[in-house]
Amino acid sequence: MILLIFAASPSLALDLRLALPLPLPERAVEVSPPVRKGWVIYEVKPGDTLSGLAEHYGVNPKHIMWSSGLRSDRLYPGQRLLIPIVGVEERPPRVPPGVEVYRVRPGDTLDTLTKRFGLTPVELVSANPSLESLDRLVAGMELYIPRKAKGLLLTLGEGQTLVDLAARFGLSPVAVARANGVKDPTELRPGDLVLLPGIQAKTTYQNLLAKQEAERRARLEAERKRQEELRRLAQERARQQALAQRQAPRQQASPRPQVRRVSYQEGAMRWPLSGFRITTYFGQRGAFQRYHTGIDLAAPYGTPIVAAKAGQVEVAGWSSVGYGFHVVLDHGGGVETLYAHMNRIAVRSGQWVKAGQVIGYVGSTGWSTGPHLHFEVRVGGMARNPLAYLP
Ligand SMILES: [Zn+2]
Repeated sequence: MILLIFAASPSLALDLRLALPLPLPERAVEVSPPVRKGWVIYEVKPGDTLSGLAEHYGVNPKHIMWSSGLRSDRLYPGQRLLIPIVGVEERPPRVPPGVEVYRVRPGDTLDTLTKRFGLTPVELVSANPSLESLDRLVAGMELYIPRKAKGLLLTLGEGQTLVDLAARFGLSPVAVARANGVKDPTELRPGDLVLLPGIQAKTTYQNLLAKQEAERRARLEAERKRQEELRRLAQERARQQALAQRQAPRQQASPRPQVRRVSYQEGAMRWPLSGFRITTYFGQRGAFQRYHTGIDLAAPYGTPIVAAKAGQVEVAGWSSVGYGFHVVLDHGGGVETLYAHMNRIAVRSGQWVKAGQVIGYVGSTGWSTGPHLHFEVRVGGMARNPLAYLP
C-alpha cells in the first residue's frame, strides 16, 4: 500500500494541484465521484483529528501522515493535508453474508452440488442466474452458494441502489438490507452482489432446462445419424461380400460331408487355438456368407492365435471385405492359411513365423457377430476344408 502510493508518485497530481490558484475552498476540495485514485487537499478545522479524518476518508491515518509529510498526528487549524484516496474504491465486490463462494472442482455436477449443499436446483440457479448451462460446470469456475437465506443474487448495476432493486421485486428495502447485512444502503457500490430473499430465478431455470433438453435431443439425433451410417456401411460390406462369393470358384458349391485326410507331406497343420468350439463348418451357409470358405472357432476375446504351420507373413492388416484385422501366412507350395476377425495382430508382413508362434489374438473385427477365429486354408488360391489338414 505504502509502496503503491509512493511508487505511483503523486508528484504530477501534486504539481497540478499546487499550481492551482490558491486559496483553496473552505473545507475541502471535492473530488468528483468516479475518481478512484487521487488526493484530497484538506484544510484542517478546529476539532479535526487525524483518526477522525482517516475514518471519514476510509484511509489509514499513517498514509495521511506520509503523504502530507507530518511528523506527528497533532493537527492545527488551517493546516493543509494531502489525503490519499488511492484504492479506496477498489475493494472487491461485496458478497452478502451467508453466501459462500465455491470453486467448482473436477467431477462436480449441478446434481452433486445441490445434494452436497442441500439446495434445490432452482435455489442454486437463483444464486447464479448468469449460469449458461446446467450440464457444463467447468472446474475452476466460481459459484455462489447461499448457506442461509435463499433468493435471487444480482449484481448491483451502475447507478442502481439497493432501494431500486427492492422496489423492482416488490420487496421491502429494510428486509433486503437485513438479508444483506447492510446498515447503510449507500455503502453498496456497483458490482456488489445483492441477495433478494425469497425471489427465485424460475424463468432462468426453465430456460436452462429447455436448453438442456434441446442439447440432449441434438445428441440423440447425432447418435441416430451415426447408427444409420454404420448400418449403411454394414449393408454395403455385406453386398460386396456377396459379390465376392458369387465370383468365388464353382467347385466349392457343395460341401463334402466326409473329410479326406491329407498326408503330413501335403501339409499337416496344428490347431490355431488351444481351446475353442467350432461354430460354423466349411461349406455351411454362414451368417454373412452364402458359402463358408473356412471354419469358425469360437473363443474368448484375447485368446492367442498361433500359426498353424511355419511360413512367411503375406498379409497382416485390415480387410475391406469383412475379415477385419487378419493375417495370411504363406507356407510355400501354394499353401496359405488365413486368420480373420483378430482383436490385435502380433506379426508384420514379411516376417517368418514358426508353427505354434503367436500371430494375433481373438477378436470380433470386421464382419463378425462375436469373438471367434475364422480360419481358412487355401491351396493354389482355392479355399479347402481346413479339417482335412488339422489333427
Ligand atoms: Zn467364418
